[in-house]
Amino acid sequence: MKSHVQVAVIGGGVVGCSVLYHLTKFGWKDVVLIERSELTSGSTWHAAGGFHTLNADPNIAALQGYTIGLYKELEEISGQSCGLHHVGGLTIAETPERMDYLKAERAKHRHMGLDTQIVGPSEIAEISPITNTDGILGALYDPLDGHLDPSGTTHAYAKAARMQGAEIVLRNRVLELNPRNGGSRNGTWDVVTEQGTIHAENVVNAAGLWAREVGAMAGVFHPLHPMEHQYLVTDDIPEVYERAVELPHVIDPGGENYLRQEGRGLVIGFYEQDCAPWAVDGTPWDFGHELLTDNLDRIGDSLEQAYHRYPVLGRAGIKRVINGPFTFAPDGNPLVGPMPGRPGYWAACAVMAGFSQGGGVGKTLAEWMIEGEPSSDVFAMDVARFGDWCTRPYARVKVTENYQRRFAVSYPNEELPAARPLHTTPAYGIWKAQRAVFGTAYGMEQVNYFAPEGEELFETPSFRRSNAHEAVGAECRAVREAVGINEIHNFGKYQVTGPDAEVWLNRIMANRMPAEGRIALTPMLSPSGKLIGDLTVAKLGPESFQITASYGAQAYHMRWFQAHLPDSGVTLRNISMERIGFQIAGPKARELLGRVTRVDVSNAALRFLDARAIEVGLVPAIVNRISYTGDLGYEIYVEAKHQVALYHALVQAGSEAGADLGLRPFGMRAMMSLRLEKSFGSWMREYKPDYTAAETGLDRFVSFRKNDFIGRSAAVAERETGPKRRLCTFVVEAEDADVWADEPIWKDGEVVGFVTSGGYAHYVKKSVALGFVPVAMIEDGARFEIEILGELRPATLISEPLFDPKGARMRG
Ligand SMILES: Cc1cc2nc3c(=O)[nH]c(=O)nc-3n(C[C@H](O)[C@H](O)[C@H](O)COP(=O)(O)OP(=O)(O)OC[C@H]3O[C@@H](n4cnc5c(N)ncnc54)[C@H](O)[C@@H]3O)c2cc1C
Repeated sequence: MKSHVQVAVIGGGVVGCSVLYHLTKFGWKDVVLIERSELTSGSTWHAAGGFHTLNADPNIAALQGYTIGLYKELEEISGQSCGLHHVGGLTIAETPERMDYLKAERAKHRHMGLDTQIVGPSEIAEISPITNTDGILGALYDPLDGHLDPSGTTHAYAKAARMQGAEIVLRNRVLELNPRNGGSRNGTWDVVTEQGTIHAENVVNAAGLWAREVGAMAGVFHPLHPMEHQYLVTDDIPEVYERAVELPHVIDPGGENYLRQEGRGLVIGFYEQDCAPWAVDGTPWDFGHELLTDNLDRIGDSLEQAYHRYPVLGRAGIKRVINGPFTFAPDGNPLVGPMPGRPGYWAACAVMAGFSQGGGVGKTLAEWMIEGEPSSDVFAMDVARFGDWCTRPYARVKVTENYQRRFAVSYPNEELPAARPLHTTPAYGIWKAQRAVFGTAYGMEQVNYFAPEGEELFETPSFRRSNAHEAVGAECRAVREAVGINEIHNFGKYQVTGPDAEVWLNRIMANRMPAEGRIALTPMLSPSGKLIGDLTVAKLGPESFQITASYGAQAYHMRWFQAHLPDSGVTLRNISMERIGFQIAGPKARELLGRVTRVDVSNAALRFLDARAIEVGLVPAIVNRISYTGDLGYEIYVEAKHQVALYHALVQAGSEAGADLGLRPFGMRAMMSLRLEKSFGSWMREYKPDYTAAETGLDRFVSFRKNDFIGRSAAVAERETGPKRRLCTFVVEAEDADVWADEPIWKDGEVVGFVTSGGYAHYVKKSVALGFVPVAMIEDGARFEIEILGELRPATLISEPLFDPKGARMRG
């Protein structure tokens, strides 16, 4: 075994072997994989081997497509068969809601280049004659679905990696991970194994069932948990083996089962409600090539439904029951990427569908290590989508919920109930008393809307306009016609201070830093010019800045900040939970602020994009004159302990006897509606690492006169050539369903673009979509069609925001 390597991959399951293969494929040969036993000794060996492209996130779905396409290449390079069966697959729908869901998925696939189709009951009966189509409305057919041999595939990755220079060391457990250089930014790792110590520049945790334990060796907590999972293998069935062609896969989500052919019989697996987290206190090191005891009672109900859906099962004997554990993250997607605060430590774990996702995970991680960034946005599987707010019980409870919902319809407006509330602010009780309906983001409770008296405190999950529609409309009107109050806890906030603070910020941000007392909006770019942040910077003193950004991007942004922080001269603090407060927005906002402070808040004294430290009510505050509603508005930041006092000051002042300003609280649904009529983009929708500043129009906030900032040369190059596509706003002729995201945009019978987000803009009473189309098609009034739930809806491109196009309200 070598004593020094560029990368040590820990774990020889399908994921570790894929990471190893991709590292060598992209040119890093000085790499070793260390496996405690034999290859496939974790979850991999007993997997059912199915693969498919369906995933709620289009980029993850694309990586699943990449994985499936890779197997042929692997077989050719390695000479090792993966045992591929490309049989296609059906996901069936028994309810109109699931049919809506499948149609929405089908629509997404159009601009991803995936060739899925919606089929009816008679086609289902033809494709899969063993399926009883009673009660079935239709299905999504994916020709790419299939299955393979898990062991053969893992060995194919391993062999191809070895052929390209990688070393694989078996029967050698990693015992410790010790950072060198005290874990500094350029830290490397001593990987202590049973066969000696390797000094590694990078370590990859691909330890699957033991990823929690390997993470702990590096002081890292990964929010994942193993779950037991059972599938049955039947005896031979004549209706199966007498067919000339192999049967396709069928997923019956209503019955919580998936089914496929295995030789002359069938395999059927279950995601049951009565599920079981495994190894709650840790995975034993002596767990090996063994199965867990069957528990058919737990899947009794699901089995009964399966007999109804596939009557042949009732006549077949069960040859084998497989009960094995595998790991999930709270949202079911993998945990991949560089761990914030642990330089040189990379995760490739919680991969619950190793044969759909393993290739994409390996590719992504190898690109990230070698190039410094992955080639597409992978936030949906980035370790940084979870923060240090995740606890072990949180992970277990959410993983259980996710397992139970594996085949549930995912609605775009749905808020999942498990493990809540976790984080709340002092204002939580105030909102609750006013009939708030809450959602959650990054562990934090936030108000979605306020339910009127007599209505349920619950938003019905739907692809169509929900029961919250009218209430949200009323909140929007309150803002536009008087003044609204909304909490600003769900911004990530960072304090940057020190003699070199400005120089540093000018280096990592694309815009010039503001003058003291002013605010600047700025994109943050990766070296290749991709958007990795859309931030607001307020200069509060000569050496003091407050940055606000997306709340859910805290770990993501902190990882980037810390990786670029100088050794001295700049102090960075994440103050997201410490500094909270409210925004007040609407035409009466100035009058309201004027009533709670003695400072001059006239338009001349407190201008648009001014930032001031003043006293508001009884407490010290930082007031930013800016509002994401696009209206006259102020963000008022205070220490958490002062939040309630600030609230009471604002509410009392707003309703002074004889001079009631009509102050009303509003939630996130209203906020997102208001920003649509201003064509304001949102992080991870319009602005994310798939897009550039010029494509999204954020280039208006790039200071090309600055000599040096990260991403400058890419931004300059793009300015010279111009982008090929650009973000635009559309007014959609919708009925009871608006766009959410990822719907295809059509022109003249062809898909020419896609939606990033949208919804109903209540104040202007229009259905709005934001999305990308080719630059050559962009002109005011150009006609397109947008596919909503399988129907093409006329859409008109507009070149000015629907509300207050000149920004007079914001500035006036
Ligand atoms: C019953 C069942 C059915 C499934 N069906 C499917 C399916 O149809 N399709 C699909 O895509 N997925 C399926 N899966 C899931 C699939 O098995 C996993 O996604 C996949 O195996 C995860 O691979 P991995 O490499 O991440 O982890 P693992 O397979 O767990 O591999 C981790 C490896 O790391 C090694 N290791 C751990 N700690 C150390 C250490 N300290 N030192 C050295 N080595 C270490 C282990 O020995 C192990 O070999 C199924 C799983 C089960 C249990």
